[in-house]
Amino acid sequence: MSRYVLLSYTIDDRTPLYGNTPAPIVSSYSSISEGSSSNTYIIKIHNHTGTHVDAPGHFIAGGRTISEYDLRDLVFHNPVMVECPAGEDERIPLKDASFGKESIDCLLVRTGFARYRHEEIYSTHNPWFASEDISWLRKNYPSIRCLGVDSLTISGFQNRDEGRKAHKAAFIDIIGAEPLLLIEDINLAPISGQRLKKILVLPLMIKGIDSAPCSVIAEVK
Ligand SMILES: [Zn+2]
Repeated sequence: MSRYVLLSYTIDDRTPLYGNTPAPIVSSYSSISEGSSSNTYIIKIHNHTGTHVDAPGHFIAGGRTISEYDLRDLVFHNPVMVECPAGEDERIPLKDASFGKESIDCLLVRTGFARYRHEEIYSTHNPWFASEDISWLRKNYPSIRCLGVDSLTISGFQNRDEGRKAHKAAFIDIIGAEPLLLIEDINLAPISGQRLKKILVLPLMIKGIDSAPCSVIAEVK
């Protein structure tokens, strides 16, 4: 029997943020306790906050934006999670991992760095992907359409130039492989050691924005 596991963190006032990104603001718009007939809220959230998905429009002018994806692009039937331990400021050893099968469509990389999610180093000294490794991945595993990592971003905060290159390496057009969707700040601990069946990535569908917070659901056996 399958069961479903939520891999997204709840957005709250402890959500770690990248650089000078403004904190999320959630304010009451109408409130029953103040005489309104219903409770409603205004939410103001930078679109790369919490568990979110980056689409090509993030780094490519005119690139595909998140609301241009449909469900077919966001459901993954051959996901694999690999353990790639990486610590402070370390390059994630992607090439050392063994992925097992060739038809993978979604690769989830667990560095273990999420254990520091409520410490400052999670935002300032995160492990990162080298652009060269992303290019290697797309060339050798062209069926992969989505890459997720339990780090704040794929860019090392201490090495932002390389981070920009890594994002571009994920998004540029190359023959025979789809641009990647990148899931950042995802919670992979609950599926460690589990047999993955499917991954569903459900972004907030807001027209015109490059990327968006998302709910990620794993179906496990
Ligand atoms: Zn992002």
